[in-house]
Amino acid sequence: MKNEVKSFETSGQKLLSMRDAQNARAAGATRVVIAEKCVVTPSARDFLTQHNIALVIDGKASVAPQTAAPAASTYGNSATQTRSKANPKLFFTPEAEVIKKEICAVGRKLWMRQFVDGNGGNISYRIGPNEVICTPTLVSKYDLTPDDLSMVDLEGTQIAGSKARTSEILLHLEVYKAVPEAKSCVHCHPPHATAYAITGRVPPNLVIPEFEVFIGKVAISPYETPGTAEFAQTVLPYVKTHNTVLLANHGIICWADSVTHAEWYAEVLETYCWTLLIASQLGAPISYISEQKGTDLLAIKKKLGLPDIRFDTSRMKECQLSDLEVPGSIALLPTPCDGNTGHASAPSNADLEALVKSVTDFTSD
Ligand SMILES: [Zn+2]
Repeated sequence: MKNEVKSFETSGQKLLSMRDAQNARAAGATRVVIAEKCVVTPSARDFLTQHNIALVIDGKASVAPQTAAPAASTYGNSATQTRSKANPKLFFTPEAEVIKKEICAVGRKLWMRQFVDGNGGNISYRIGPNEVICTPTLVSKYDLTPDDLSMVDLEGTQIAGSKARTSEILLHLEVYKAVPEAKSCVHCHPPHATAYAITGRVPPNLVIPEFEVFIGKVAISPYETPGTAEFAQTVLPYVKTHNTVLLANHGIICWADSVTHAEWYAEVLETYCWTLLIASQLGAPISYISEQKGTDLLAIKKKLGLPDIRFDTSRMKECQLSDLEVPGSIALLPTPCDGNTGHASAPSNADLEALVKSVTDFTSD
């Protein structure tokens, strides 16, 4: 391999487009020299990164192709953008291409199962220590193509991809930062699970074996405005001991070792919630799996390496295997065992009584 540097001069133009990038490559350039205030389109920047062509600001030190990063970007303020530790080239590796296809297939599954609506829901995969591939904002998960996806660093700054990343990426990034085993996150709004999320309730346990093994206890995080850092951090108390969290008044998030598995957990939770709701209409009590048989299921779960707060034996006093103390109920107030710390959005009995009294007082005249 020759190490010869061949420059492609842009003569002070204010915009570097995809056509310029392609011309630079056709000319055999190893670097493109741009004016300090030149804006580089995301697709041109990606193209140059993909083909090992460095971007160099005129009169400044050269940037080696192997570490090429955008000299200017339409993603943020180019003057203040700090160099990310993340490697944008990971976006173009064969592994990334496989992951992109998997994300698109999972997006279509979510839409087909009615787990997402409009442009709702988002999917991500951590491909490197500081690099996360994710879905864009404002695209239906049914219509996703690999070219729609983008890549961000762990702070949420977009480093590759021509479409703007999902506004919910901060939620996924909090999971990745807290849980090293988490490789993929899926956030969606499946109706039956979301029904629990809007009532501040969690489903009971020890009803269906698959649910115990793959999910177990579901936590519920408090409501915050979607897209904000505050919202992203609401899941932090739960994600180490739960792979699935109900997001109050919003939807769910699941994490797993692969995109496909994270989507499976969304399916398992949604089907479980749906089945419970159907069973509750039959007029017959739900029969539960015994505590002893439940222990067997937890042993299977441990072998699979899946998290469960019930593995923490120091918490077993506050955390029974099941919720049999409320027979027949399919919507339970969360307990410390569900990872909750007393801030559940559901009102207490005293609150309810006060509410009922205020309503009857108001309507009695
Ligand atoms: Zn959402």
